[in-house]
Amino acid sequence: MTQGTAQVLAGPPAAAALLDEARRRAARLPHPPHLALVRVGEDPASVSYVRGKATKASEVGLSSHVHALPGDTTQADLLALIGTLNADPAVSGILVQLPLPAHLDPEPVLLAVNPAKDVDGLHPANTGALWNDHAGLRPCTPAGIMALLAHHGVPVRGQHAVIVGRSALVGRPVAGLLLNADATVTVAHRATPDLGAVTRGADILIVAAGQAHLITPDMVRPGATVVDVGINRVSTEDGRGRLTGDVHPDVAQVAGALTPVPGGVGPMTVAQLLMNTVIAAERQHAQPEVTGELVR
Ligand code: ADP
Repeated sequence: MTQGTAQVLAGPPAAAALLDEARRRAARLPHPPHLALVRVGEDPASVSYVRGKATKASEVGLSSHVHALPGDTTQADLLALIGTLNADPAVSGILVQLPLPAHLDPEPVLLAVNPAKDVDGLHPANTGALWNDHAGLRPCTPAGIMALLAHHGVPVRGQHAVIVGRSALVGRPVAGLLLNADATVTVAHRATPDLGAVTRGADILIVAAGQAHLITPDMVRPGATVVDVGINRVSTEDGRGRLTGDVHPDVAQVAGALTPVPGGVGPMTVAQLLMNTVIAAERQHAQPEVTGELVR
């Protein structure tokens, strides 16, 4: 057994603070923000994620509706639903649960969502705004990571942040957010030779590579802050499996602060989704013309 020394950057208290803020701000609006959750087919993980998002939404005073479409829904029918939700002024945010069944192409679907209602922050209008440090809706996991660091008092300005992974969902957008927060940013990925030489330069190391225990203690500068975005299922002797991160547990011996898996970044993602729904509703309330069919 190893005994960790790093400060634990726990997700639940930071998520609770974000949810409290969402609840407070939602209550100031004339109507509860409404989140439209779109899911296609009966993939058990998607069913459970969408149910969890709807439950959390009601806990912070948001209304939501699950639009559960049959597994054989056509691309045209799905796009028609998005169009209806875009045009409905009562809908503040639209989330299309991924992955979609194989016969559907996710890209045109994400492009069809009105950027003002794109609470996942994945529309190119929002990713472009993020990259240029303009107002927009930010992707949930990256924004949740920033909220987690802020909650635990981890300074970002002037720090060297190294990100392992360049995915559209995590690596790229978190690089943009850290840059906007005045960090010096390096992005490493599969083709980076000598990953450890890069990660050892990090004051803040964000790991989103989807590789269990990719980051070992020798790859971490003593005292660094390490954020583990990985969620990998590994088999156990009893056959039940367990979740583990992209960061080896022994990194706790070296790092100054470390997010646990589970219970680190995970809870931040849904909290940020609900915060994004409140932000979308606030902007639509202040500027009603963004909600209608005119803005796409
Ligand atoms: P996510 O689930 O975070 O969106 P993806 O599975 O889509 O991540 O992408 C994994 C990312 O991690 C890719 O950008 C890939 O280049 C990076 N990656 C995977 N394995 C390694 C590795 N061994 N070293 C460095 N980067 C890696």
